[in-house]
Amino acid sequence: METQQIDYGQRFEEFLREAKDKDGSLKYIKQVNEIIAFRKRSLVVDFSDLYQHDEKLASEIINSPLEIIPILEDRILKLVEEQDGEFTKEIKKVHLRLNNVPRLIELRKIRSSEINKVVVVEGILTKQTPLKERAYRIVLKHVSPECNEEFRWPENEEMDETIKMPSICPVCGKPGQFDIIPQKAELVDWQRVIIQERPEEVPAGQIPRQLEAVFEDDLVDSARPGDRVRFTGILMIKQDSLLRRGSRSIFDIYLKVLNVEISQKVLDEVEITEEDKKRILEIAKNPWIREAIISSIAPSIYDHWEIKEAISLALFGGVQRTMEDGTRTRGDIHVLIVGDPGTAKSQILQFAARVSPRSVYTTGKGATAAGLTAAVVREKNTGDYYLEAGALVLADGGVAVIDEIDKMRDEDRVAIHEAMEQQTVSIAKAGILAKLNARATIIAAGNPKFGRYIQERAVAENIDLPPTILSRFDLIFILIDKPGIEDQNLAGHILDMHSGKQARNFITVDDMKKYIAYARKFINPRLNDEAKQLLADFYVEMRRKSSENPSTPILITPRQLEALIRITEAYARMALREEATREDAERAINIMRIFLEKVGID
Ligand code: ADP
Ligand code: ZN
Ligand code: MG
Repeated sequence: METQQIDYGQRFEEFLREAKDKDGSLKYIKQVNEIIAFRKRSLVVDFSDLYQHDEKLASEIINSPLEIIPILEDRILKLVEEQDGEFTKEIKKVHLRLNNVPRLIELRKIRSSEINKVVVVEGILTKQTPLKERAYRIVLKHVSPECNEEFRWPENEEMDETIKMPSICPVCGKPGQFDIIPQKAELVDWQRVIIQERPEEVPAGQIPRQLEAVFEDDLVDSARPGDRVRFTGILMIKQDSLLRRGSRSIFDIYLKVLNVEISQKVLDEVEITEEDKKRILEIAKNPWIREAIISSIAPSIYDHWEIKEAISLALFGGVQRTMEDGTRTRGDIHVLIVGDPGTAKSQILQFAARVSPRSVYTTGKGATAAGLTAAVVREKNTGDYYLEAGALVLADGGVAVIDEIDKMRDEDRVAIHEAMEQQTVSIAKAGILAKLNARATIIAAGNPKFGRYIQERAVAENIDLPPTILSRFDLIFILIDKPGIEDQNLAGHILDMHSGKQARNFITVDDMKKYIAYARKFINPRLNDEAKQLLADFYVEMRRKSSENPSTPILITPRQLEALIRITEAYARMALREEATREDAERAINIMRIFLEKVGID
């Protein structure tokens, strides 16, 4: 055993000394120098390099990380020490962080066979505790008049999350009582986080799976709630669950994280192949592409053209811009549907969530304690406080679909203003202070306050949402269920759908998802001069009209002008055009007019 261990350490050291970069330089020696120069505490090893260099060592790391990684970390420390002996006294440890480990396992497929092995998981970080300190070594004092000696404990290895006392004093060899000297404990920064399946990957109707993970030292705060992450780590059994004797033999598991990667690129979860790209560009050639897209939104739902158009605009979105002074304007187009029960609002919303490349579907009440924005929650078992991300944070970079938004919690009613405009969520509670990103498009639906929509009254009176929230929606549409001539057509349509007749679907959900991802990623339209002029004229006219009629329920503010710009950009984006033209602006004005007329303005 001993000789074998020396062997692996030696082989790893050889690898570090020999492995070369593409440019021929010594890849890891360079990193060792950087560790010293920049006071880093980790060395990142590309697992595929290691695998090529030494297959046996690589597979040993995967299968017995707990035994082998400390040996390898000692070798890294040795290399650092060779260059700078003072620095190693300061840090005592350099972490080995593994990259590109080809062992991706879905959170719902983690099994006991993976315990104590290196695995890779992907998901979204939903919760985190604040920074804490973990004692990995303590100093104990033998409470005994004959001995009274202090000693470090454990002597050689590190302690895990629970303190285990020695049975006998290592100094005098006798049993007894031991006191902890708290100020002499050796501490490491520590944080617990929760990783959850990505919302769009959870099978329909199922609860997302989650896994606890632990960050230590320089990994603390390396990812935040709402981030889409990939963790490489060791799957472990919680020691404290082992210690509870006589109770349960069911163990909790967690991931001791070895490396964190954050997916920065929005929408990289939708893979677009060369072939896909060809098809997307082919679809975009259709001169009626926008009509094709709109009629492909919830094709089994009859009528509601304007609502489908608004949903399409929200799915494609405008362009987010950062001004020279650093202020940002959102590109997201928020859409609200208010309507009578049974008018297919929920159906349309569910479709929107399905076709969006990145989306979170929730109701106003929220699926978790964090609701729509964020919360600080206390976990019963451990007593730990967690910062937990709500739907808008989890939907960062995508679409938050919120049904029954009128039922949202009071905390969210306050916090959603910031989320809709600044696109951040701030929270200060139980000693946790945080600002999280919430760059999400909101597509929402709400039911009328009085059960039915009363047309004689303004929108603000019909829905249980304050005007400050209503005014942050770019487009609001009202769905009224009025019996009449349409019934015959609607009945026919529903009966056709139920008898298996296919909807006249131009673009499939799969193609649409890719088309949207492609457009949002690569197409960033700009308004040409004609388009700008047209919008400016319209805005001035709207302002004049609203000042003549001060009782209008929706105020015409620069917000509407910004909305018009976004909508114009979205129309260009739907056709994969970089230039937003006069025609796009006309369409934007047209749909804005319909919205303003329906909510009672002209
Ligand atoms: P809401 O959320 O507005 O209360 P739902 O989305 O739950 O309504 O719709 C109720 C039912 O009525 C659904 O099965 C839906 O498919 C059907 N329905 C309502 N309006 C239409 C329509 N225009 N076309 C097709 N089906 C419709
Ligand atoms: Zn003793
Ligand atoms: Mg509904």
